[in-house]
Amino acid sequence: MIITTRKKELYEIIGRYSKEHIIGFVPTMGALHEGHLSLIRASREKCSFTVCSIFVNPTQFNDSSDLEKYPRPVSSDIIKLTQAGCDLLFLPTYDEIYEDPRLFDIDLGGLDQVAEGKMRENHFKGVINVCKRLFDIVQPNQVFFGQKDYQQCLVIRKMIRFFNLPIQFNMIPIQREQDGLAMSSRNIRLSEQERKTAAFIPQILMGVQNLVHKYPGELENFIHAEFSKHKDIILEYAYVADATDLKPATDKNWPAVILVACRIGNTRLIDNLIIYEKN
Ligand code: AMP
Repeated sequence: MIITTRKKELYEIIGRYSKEHIIGFVPTMGALHEGHLSLIRASREKCSFTVCSIFVNPTQFNDSSDLEKYPRPVSSDIIKLTQAGCDLLFLPTYDEIYEDPRLFDIDLGGLDQVAEGKMRENHFKGVINVCKRLFDIVQPNQVFFGQKDYQQCLVIRKMIRFFNLPIQFNMIPIQREQDGLAMSSRNIRLSEQERKTAAFIPQILMGVQNLVHKYPGELENFIHAEFSKHKDIILEYAYVADATDLKPATDKNWPAVILVACRIGNTRLIDNLIIYEKN
């Protein structure tokens, strides 16, 4: 695997490979797990040259202690990426990405006004600013993002359309631990007891699957009631939305998505479930 920290060097390498290869790109913040590696595998299936970036992007964090505490195990990430068959790892510094510090804003059509956007001010502005810069440097044919961050997927798709980028977007399903907990770089921060508690999050979401005949408001109430049974989990939101634009779901909007965010101790976790049809 080629490793570079310089965008100039990356440009040159991509310039050489892009003539004969389909370039797949997987942007990450590192602390890699099977979820990230499933994106690398998906890219390897569809593309002939896979680029991964690891960059903990400060502009998408609105909590400085969350940014400080974010795990950065770079050497083990390099081993995992090498084993997964990644072709190139881009490890830029802050200055390399934000050489031009001006941040742009695009109209996300309300996608950034709900759920994560509402709880984390300017989070998606940070996400589009880093992803647009990374896409401009890597110039991928295809990009791979995880359904784990469902709202982020819709935001990136919107950004690709907004800038008319010649990039195919791929959303890859959520990889889960054996007990159903969505894999996340933040899971390692959970104590043993908190980790056990966290398994209730997917259990509650899966429980909703049997209730999709109910109205969206009833589903949200059900989720709130279920979470309130677990005193160690603080539910931030449970939002049932139209899966295409994240407007509040009505009884007629399918597919719908249920987005949840909660806190266990000092760790913030998100998860979601797409409901494709009403039985
Ligand atoms: P992050 O490093 O958290 O920014 O994540 C990088 C990419 O990996 C994003 O597209 C995430 O949605 C994706 N990802 C994170 N966790 C998972 C998971 N459990 N399953 C699938 N993709 C994931």
